Amino acid sequence: MLDKITVAGVSVDTRHWIGGERVASSDTFTDVSPIDGSVLGEISRGTPAEVAAAVSAAKAAFPAWAATPRAERARILHAVADGVEKRLEELAVVETTDNGALLRSHRRGVMPRVAHNFRFFADWLLRLDHEDFATRGHTNHVSWDPAGPCVLITPWNAPLMLATWKVAPALAAGNTVVLKPAEWSPLTASLLADIAAAAGLPAGVLNVVQGYGSEIGDALTSHPGVRRISFTGSVPTARRIAASAAANLTPLSLELGGKSPLLVFADADLDLAVDLAVEQYDNAGQVCLAATRLLVEETVAEEFTRRFVEKAARLTQGDPRDEATDIGPTIHPRQLEKIDGFVRRATAAGARAVIGGHPRDGRYYAPTLLTDVAQDSEIVQEEVFGPVLTLQTFATEEEAVRLANDTRFGLAATVATGDRDRADRVTARLVAGTVWVNCFFVRDLQAPFGGSRLSGVGREGGTWSFDFYCDLKNTVTAPKGWQDHG
Ligand code: NAD
Repeated sequence: MLDKITVAGVSVDTRHWIGGERVASSDTFTDVSPIDGSVLGEISRGTPAEVAAAVSAAKAAFPAWAATPRAERARILHAVADGVEKRLEELAVVETTDNGALLRSHRRGVMPRVAHNFRFFADWLLRLDHEDFATRGHTNHVSWDPAGPCVLITPWNAPLMLATWKVAPALAAGNTVVLKPAEWSPLTASLLADIAAAAGLPAGVLNVVQGYGSEIGDALTSHPGVRRISFTGSVPTARRIAASAAANLTPLSLELGGKSPLLVFADADLDLAVDLAVEQYDNAGQVCLAATRLLVEETVAEEFTRRFVEKAARLTQGDPRDEATDIGPTIHPRQLEKIDGFVRRATAAGARAVIGGHPRDGRYYAPTLLTDVAQDSEIVQEEVFGPVLTLQTFATEEEAVRLANDTRFGLAATVATGDRDRADRVTARLVAGTVWVNCFFVRDLQAPFGGSRLSGVGREGGTWSFDFYCDLKNTVTAPKGWQDHG
């Protein structure tokens, strides 16, 4: 096994990062580019032994990092952000090569946001104040104590973005971290370890363990030394993690899947509604928040569909490194098979593919719109995680809200309407962690993010992140008992 591989001209270490050192496993797994199936390299395949070493390193580093003054922690996190910005182009090309999402998005949106994650939580830490309350002369002093080593487990669809959304607040709060990236996109986590070390983050504060969740997940999530587990991924994996974490009652944050609706009312700006609908094909539909269920008022459904088809036909699918490409590949042939299975079962059950409905080759799935789908069918109820949308119509606002809320998920919802009163009425009744009105995907890092129902447990963002990554302590001090009797 090579300790380092070169990906798109960038040198990436294939080993774990534990206690400030590179550590290799005897076995490896193969990392493949979704763009063309080329082998990028052999990556260290973690075992419970490396997990134990990483948690030990995180435990050993915790007291000193927790005691590091906030201003110094914030300074180091800003230095990490500087490092991300300095290597932004490298991070963007490596991420695109590894997970197939658009290079132009990585360059302009995602990687700048990665740097912003560090800056934002560093600055928020400095503004995070203790609170004092008085009870019958006693002072209640509420402080934010670091919780301890945190295990952070992330998916492949937005690897570095989602990892740093956890790493940055966990570190800012004074915790140490063991990060396990997804096995289909392991590379940028390794670059992050280099960047953090160069920024002066002490050894053991951030550790990265590579490998399969099925092989090291349990060791990570059942470890008694771990004080927080934050997971982004699928519902079945979340269930396993929750069961494993139950042994130590380790607090969990779970950001899971969705089956979010886009409600298009007849009073909406129809071109805007069509733009919002076509946007759901971003990242080849591999976005947890994607509004994959189009619910369109029946009086405008025909015109909406006509304009949607026209616009979708102009999308370019192909190499995500090409600036002109709108939709890249699916992460893995296995994912493509899964997507196609959903579509085949739907069409066998009577759904009609208005566009798409088939793979383009072994890596790309054609943007698909299915109509004639029943509310209780698999294609309407289950997350596909590919460029597959369904379209249903509704006659009344009441019916729109009922259909929108009628899945087991509650991650997000989008409403297209020209009527402010309707927007207020409908958003108040939607079950979702995030609701967008006449827009999509915009979010301030100060605002809470998370899902209701099976879409997750807990909220992150701003103070909510520190709520999770800290042990809140209330110290109650009596007015009497002091030697000076003052
Ligand atoms: P996944 O659940 O298969 O894997 C996610 C991570 O969990 C990977 O790192 C994997 O190795 C690890 N894992 C697997 N088994 C494990 C176990 N037993 N113990 C511990 N860890 C284990 O999910 P995925 O396919 O990588 O990602 C797609 C899913 O993620 C979709 O459902 C999507 O909606 C969801 N997602 C949610 C959000 C959000 O913020 N709500 C964001 C992105 C993706």
